[in-house]
Amino acid sequence: MEKPENPDLAELAKWLRYYRDLGFTHIFRSPLQPSPLAETPVAVATAAAPTTEPEAYTIAMPTRTPKPAAVPPSGSDLFAAAAPRESLEKIREDLGDCQRCKLSQGRKTIVFGSGNPKAEIVFVGEGPGADEDEQGLPFVGRAGQLLTDMIEKGLKIPRPDVYICNIIKCRPPQNRKPEKDEIAACRQFVERQIDSIRPRVICALGATAAETLLNVKEAMGRLRGRWYEFRGIPLIVTYHPAFLLRDPSKKSETWSDLKMLLARLAG
Ligand code: SF4
Repeated sequence: MEKPENPDLAELAKWLRYYRDLGFTHIFRSPLQPSPLAETPVAVATAAAPTTEPEAYTIAMPTRTPKPAAVPPSGSDLFAAAAPRESLEKIREDLGDCQRCKLSQGRKTIVFGSGNPKAEIVFVGEGPGADEDEQGLPFVGRAGQLLTDMIEKGLKIPRPDVYICNIIKCRPPQNRKPEKDEIAACRQFVERQIDSIRPRVICALGATAAETLLNVKEAMGRLRGRWYEFRGIPLIVTYHPAFLLRDPSKKSETWSDLKMLLARLAG
């Protein structure tokens, strides 16, 4: 076989084939300096790899459907792994009248998400409550009003300019925490929403959002106040507004998280 002229290109092509064979479909070039938590296991993909991983790339999490067998490389093959963006409308269409988990039995409406499809910030909460279930919109109750204040009074951004969604799209009975199987059934949709929007920053509201997006189990006090990455996008964790309604003393820590978020956007 003819030897490629550029050894760097050949090396890159080798790596892209390697990750494609593992089932990765997205590879994003990271625009950021390494996260302060880059040495922790929560901020990076977990596929086993040879020891000389290329430094300039952040590898997305694998999809549930492995890609077919490898095809021979070519020059354009280097960029073939970058999938086109799905529209939010297409994702909502796929969700349909979802019956993928038992939460479908008690819900009134599916709460998909709302806001700017080109938002610079995506807020991800846990799941809909009673008000959201009634109206089909995320964060419209008391916690929603507090989130609106955080966005509009704290960040000085109109709420319609950001995008807001939840890990699960249907209200759990008595507002209990979503169970593992429910999160597993639903998480593809929030991941696809984020992939579609590709915001500059993600703000995970509360432990469920943080643990789901980062695949980590930690107390909120240890999770917040630091930067992580979700598929190459900076992610910060802060308290869920519903928790702040119960414990207003955490508002000052939340404000400090929001200031970090603002500084990241400004930078
Ligand atoms: S919570 Fe998600 S997976 Fe479960 S029924 Fe609702 S939309 Fe479907």
